[in-house]
Amino acid sequence: MTSPQHEGHRRLLIANGSILRGVGVDDVPEIADVLIVDGVITEIGTDLVAVRDEATEILDATDKLVIPGMINSHYHSHDTLAKGTLEEEPLEYWRLMALPPQYPKRSREEVKARTLLGAYECLRSGMTTVQDMVTLFPFDPEHLEAVVEAYEEIGIRAVVGLQYADKKGISTIPFWEDVFPEELHGSLSTAAEPDADIDQLSYLEEHYLQGPARERVTWALGPSAPERCSTGLLQRTMALAEKYDLQIFTHIYESKGMALQARREYPQYAGSLIRRLQEEGMIGPRVNLAHSVWLLPDEIELLAETGTNVVLNPLSNLKLKSGIPPIHALEEAGVSFGLGCDNCSCSDAQNMFQAMKLFALVAAISNPDPGPNQADRAFHAATAGGAHALDREEDLGRLAPGYRGDVVLMDLTDPTFVPLNSAVRQLVYTESGRGVTDVVVDGRIVIRAGVLQTIDPADLLARIASVVPEFQKDFEQVKKRADGLSGYLLEAHHRTWAEDVGANRLFTGR
Ligand SMILES: [Zn+2]
Repeated sequence: MTSPQHEGHRRLLIANGSILRGVGVDDVPEIADVLIVDGVITEIGTDLVAVRDEATEILDATDKLVIPGMINSHYHSHDTLAKGTLEEEPLEYWRLMALPPQYPKRSREEVKARTLLGAYECLRSGMTTVQDMVTLFPFDPEHLEAVVEAYEEIGIRAVVGLQYADKKGISTIPFWEDVFPEELHGSLSTAAEPDADIDQLSYLEEHYLQGPARERVTWALGPSAPERCSTGLLQRTMALAEKYDLQIFTHIYESKGMALQARREYPQYAGSLIRRLQEEGMIGPRVNLAHSVWLLPDEIELLAETGTNVVLNPLSNLKLKSGIPPIHALEEAGVSFGLGCDNCSCSDAQNMFQAMKLFALVAAISNPDPGPNQADRAFHAATAGGAHALDREEDLGRLAPGYRGDVVLMDLTDPTFVPLNSAVRQLVYTESGRGVTDVVVDGRIVIRAGVLQTIDPADLLARIASVVPEFQKDFEQVKKRADGLSGYLLEAHHRTWAEDVGANRLFTGR
């Protein structure tokens, strides 16, 4: 019988789970039910049996650890087909092989298929929200619509931010203009390049920001990196963010080259991109700085003073030889941070368990003294820290009444959790992602017993298979061309590493 008071409401009861409410290493999961009504958690308790009726969908969570859906706070959907293509490479090499401006224009089918694939991988490893800083180059409105469609169809929560810039990439990388022959300059690029044909921000504003709100796809702004953007573009970004109440995501000091560029290009700001951002007005709680590997102590203080956020990406930072961010200094200063899995071509996995573990381990070697606990900080960054980055800490990243019903169930009978000594430590140090069984977004079951529910997995695989040959053919050409440039790349790289930028974030054993 449908109770009259339930009519018209979508109700999901996650029953008899081991609920992890906190992020502390000593927090003990409690056996309880979680009731989600119309996408919002309304109750968590042991006496919710009364709400079990025909109108309520039941998800049995017996022997399951119930955690908040994790948040991938820095991610790019544009290269999900490139996982496993590359070994470790310096960031500046990798950009020439992996990023859209080096490739011929993609098909709409490929854009949609790759977006679905990345979202599917995120969901399968317990992430219910992605911040997708996507480069669509050359920009095509159909490609943006394909991204939005993909997220809506698969049912993940997505905060989409187009990645844009208005300076030519080659002018923003130390020594490139010097070492590369002039005839090559026009064909060298970075993560985003100026787009002469369309003003992406105007298009975004007119067609999406002013349009009706969507349920799970929302917007952020993605200026690629401060050194790739003019003063006008940064100021326009901040104005648009304030007008539409949007968060901003940008890359800062990912590699030593980016720190060196700041020293050389901005003497008026003491060589600091953070001081430049402060002068341009693009600083504060709206702003999220991905990577932040080469921050200096006074810059960290400025971030703390202004409430500016950081998003750490240990997987890509290690693989691209960018180095280890000053995690202890960020923590001591009280800078809020989330975690990201970054690109598939340099992290290879959209797996927050890998990111959390690596975060905790690089934190360990960024300070010779013991402590503090890093497992709880890692799990906080993957949940509430990510919610803070998205300005959604009031309704994402926790299991509590009033929060969105974004919930992940994990198998407590898996060896990972046997015996259960500390749920949080085992999530961070032991779990690989194998234990994720069910994923709920907005109170909808998106993965049930490991199987995608929102779209047919076989259909998704067929879509991918149909676009992969073209991608692989183009990748081979792009890689071959980049390999032919390796002498110039190495020359610029060695010149960069010969310079002093006031810090060293790479462990060389010397
Ligand atoms: Zn990135």
